[in-house]
Amino acid sequence: MKTDLLIGNEWRGTAKRYCLTNPATEERLAEVAEAGEAEVDAAVQAARACLDSKAWRELPPRKRGQLLYRIAELLEQRSPEIAEVETKNNGKPLFESKIDVAMAVETFRYYAGWADKLTGDTLPVSGSFFTYTLREPVGVVGAIVPWNFPLNLASWKVAPALAAGCTVVLKPAHETPLTALLLGDIAVAAGLPPGALNVVPGPGATAGAALVRHPLVDKIAFTGSTEVGQWIMREAAATVKRVTLELGGKSPNMIFADADLPAAVRGAQNGIFYGKGEVCAAGSRLLVEQAVHDQVVEQLADRAKKLTPGDPFDKNTRLGTIVSKRQQETILSYIAAGEKEGARLVAGGKPAKVNGKGYYVEATVFDGAKPGMKIVDEEIFGPVLSVLTFADEAEGIQLANRSMYGLAAGIWTKDVQKAHRVARAIKAGTVWVNTYNFYDPAAPFGGYKFSGFGRDLGREALDNYTELKTVWVGL
Ligand code: NAD
Repeated sequence: MKTDLLIGNEWRGTAKRYCLTNPATEERLAEVAEAGEAEVDAAVQAARACLDSKAWRELPPRKRGQLLYRIAELLEQRSPEIAEVETKNNGKPLFESKIDVAMAVETFRYYAGWADKLTGDTLPVSGSFFTYTLREPVGVVGAIVPWNFPLNLASWKVAPALAAGCTVVLKPAHETPLTALLLGDIAVAAGLPPGALNVVPGPGATAGAALVRHPLVDKIAFTGSTEVGQWIMREAAATVKRVTLELGGKSPNMIFADADLPAAVRGAQNGIFYGKGEVCAAGSRLLVEQAVHDQVVEQLADRAKKLTPGDPFDKNTRLGTIVSKRQQETILSYIAAGEKEGARLVAGGKPAKVNGKGYYVEATVFDGAKPGMKIVDEEIFGPVLSVLTFADEAEGIQLANRSMYGLAAGIWTKDVQKAHRVARAIKAGTVWVNTYNFYDPAAPFGGYKFSGFGRDLGREALDNYTELKTVWVGL
């Protein structure tokens, strides 16, 4: 597969290349070209030239939509290969990678349909005027994405940006650039003009920062940690770039005593262990109403103990390997902090290997967690669940909102009034009721508070990739 940079529809090698490791086998996976400042500049120039060219600016919107449909089709055709690459690079079970690719296909299809439906308004102003608004592409978009859903999160930005008529420089995470490069390959095959999509793997501190600082980039669409998001927001001020930030989370998953308990326990398990817990919206704080606490924790601990880490290519595996040794160490340091601060370990807690290799961590559950503990307050980004208890609805809501983050939340109850009441009271961008971790291209996703602002997906994402122009015509 392609491992060079994609700039202006050409594959360019670089003097500097770096090695990727398969986190399940600890073996060398590929050697990838690394973009520095010069290569990022070349990619931005290509995106700019495309934006200003007839090939893009004057392309009828429906034709843009057709190109996006074609990308979706090619992604779908190559989905077995893409899923395999994602699993080798990220360590997630193959069935999860297949879901990721299917979602990326759906995302391209969804935004393909929007390309010719971006309209302005006519405005009922006072006086003798005809006044209307136009939606125009915001320009060159720098899309920066993390390693947990490499292809999927890239599609959440690339598809709406292209649909809106923007051009894109995509910087995948340093650890997981392979499916972004496959997406680039597919975009070229689909017939996207040179420069419409450029892909430049490289470290955040150099390639990412160069994109954020570049004067010809109009907007940064970022998904990643809150810390880097804050830096980007400060840095983007110098060139008054538009910025949208999809950041971290510490999402509460609340089980009320009147819930369907088996379903709630399954939901709690999937909420934290899907994607090895390397999920921004992971339900990493489980809030359980006192009356059902003991049963919930017992059932959950049983389930977690059975969820043994396995080879990501084994069809029975439901817990893959952590993405890197570094991330494994971070997770283990949180587990050590949880034990030190007095939470009670009821499942997991240790690193693991499969066939003697890999950066696995057991499915871990802490009971008796309290606000103020690191495992409760900070995003771990691994398969570690902290269980807290609440006495009643008011205390549950207060605990749920006691976080700097506000990305997502879950509510398990059979009481329909309580469900809607609590959904309103929780400060988060997504609330799942009697379900968890569902996504659809039509449903906007993003954060409150330190989880960021702006929305990926849905019609709303298109607002992030367009400027609004008001035109006054004197009559
Ligand atoms: P990260 O912030 O370290 O990196 C994210 C991306 O930013 C990578 O491509 C990285 O190379 C780049 N980057 C790093 N420093 C940069 C800089 N100075 N300038 C420009 N780019 C830079 O995050 P990560 O560890 O890759 O991913 C995990 C984080 O992502 C978690 O906090 C998680 O919650 C968050 N996340 C959020 C969402 C969401 O939709 N809200 C989705 C997935 C992940």
